[in-house]
Amino acid sequence: MEEQTRSIVQQSLNALLENENFLTDLKGGMRQKAFTSLNSILSTPNQIHKSFLRVPLEGGEVVRIPSYRVHHNDALGPYKGGIRFHETVNEEEVVNLAFLMTLKNALHNVPFGGGKGGIMINPKDFSEKELHKICIKYVRYFNNVIGPDKDIPAPDVGSGEREMDWMMAEYKKINQGSPYLGSFTGKSVENGGSLGRREATGKGVYFTFRYLLNNYVKDNQATFATTTNPFAKTALEYVNRELTVAVQGFGNVGSVTALEAYRCAHIQNKVVAVSDRNVTLFNADGLDIPALVEFTAKNKGDLPTSEDQLTAAGIAATIQGREDILTMDVDVLFLAALENQLNDQNKTQIKARIIVEGANAPTTREADDYLSEKGVVIIPDILANAGGVIVSYLEWLQGRETQFFSEEEVYNQLLAKMRNTMDTLLPQYFGDTFSLRQNCYIHSVTRLSTVLYRQGKLY
Ligand code: NAP
Repeated sequence: MEEQTRSIVQQSLNALLENENFLTDLKGGMRQKAFTSLNSILSTPNQIHKSFLRVPLEGGEVVRIPSYRVHHNDALGPYKGGIRFHETVNEEEVVNLAFLMTLKNALHNVPFGGGKGGIMINPKDFSEKELHKICIKYVRYFNNVIGPDKDIPAPDVGSGEREMDWMMAEYKKINQGSPYLGSFTGKSVENGGSLGRREATGKGVYFTFRYLLNNYVKDNQATFATTTNPFAKTALEYVNRELTVAVQGFGNVGSVTALEAYRCAHIQNKVVAVSDRNVTLFNADGLDIPALVEFTAKNKGDLPTSEDQLTAAGIAATIQGREDILTMDVDVLFLAALENQLNDQNKTQIKARIIVEGANAPTTREADDYLSEKGVVIIPDILANAGGVIVSYLEWLQGRETQFFSEEEVYNQLLAKMRNTMDTLLPQYFGDTFSLRQNCYIHSVTRLSTVLYRQGKLY
């Protein structure tokens, strides 16, 4: 995965090297050297911090839990990125996720660098008391490298506002007298969090899809009628008609994305399938998403896994295998679970022609190349799922000022920022043959390279 991110960055740098209007002061051998330096700087993290948290469990046993905090790049501001609680967490994955955060913040002009954290556990295997201890230990072990102006963690897979509240409380206790509200984002509103933060990523994910199809493509239908651009041709087929939608992952990002699709008044959507780590649920007439959200809220986040549970909850659906959702015959597939979901093994069976990456890195390089070649429109992670970090930035600002925005102000600022990024990218995407991912990377790398050059980091 990390290799994939590196290679797209390298391609973006190659494109910029050839562009004589970019960094015009740099010529000849100097230019070549500067671009080699840029590649070295961007393709490696600044620091990797690793600890084995010592945690006593309720039964008396002591466990040591591998945990990470990676600082990728801080040219644009303090490091920023979530903490993943998942049993598959490993160094390479955390480094790649931190790398993506650097690119994501640069893409949307958020004044943060890229960081990420991970704790190698399945949180569902631990009691609340034990999870509280794990969170406290994480802050104690990494206290020296985090802080409101150094590195600001947030939730990711397996963590949420409860964990951020516990962590901020520990940070406050250790660093008495220092500002603490900006030390973590994604906190509860009662504890200094921002209105709208919990929903921000899912809302932003759905917005990127809606804006691309229902604003940009719809507004440009006349121009697109004669286009030879493969992505514009695909998108045109999906304007002004009812769409079937599937959402993989029904956690923070997936459930909000599914609700947004279910409630959308602008596009006729039918959410026919959702999934989590146990099952896929399917209903050709459309699933009752609010009822599923209510069910998961009462059942530790899990979707119904038996006929009895579905009947008791009054939900009409058939139960299928967890991976089935990926190859279903739907128009739009939202990926909101984990990495590497569309890959070499299943790439030829993917039927959706519009794919939106709510998760980070859910499509491998092989699948991405194959699907892009076929004209599938893929809205990539660093574009689609930036709602979380954009509202995290607003939360951080509010924490500094101790002045808080209304929910409406938060959403207006969130969507304005995402619209702005889309308006910059879409004309180029529908005008050339680069994928939207490649366009996003070129945009991010342009911003990062300019700043690194101005900061004198290339000599
Ligand atoms: P989450 O709340 O923990 O939800 C993850 C969902 O994925 C759960 O429904 C989980 O099911 C499901 N899942 C786990 N393993 C799976 C598998 N092998 N196959 C199918 N589904 C599986 O996490 P999240 O915050 O929504 O994050 C989802 C993705 O979005 C991640 O890639 C994350 O990095 C990215 N993201 C999140 C944010 C944010 O603000 N939260 C921001 C940007 C990007 P179970 O509940 O059964 O485990």
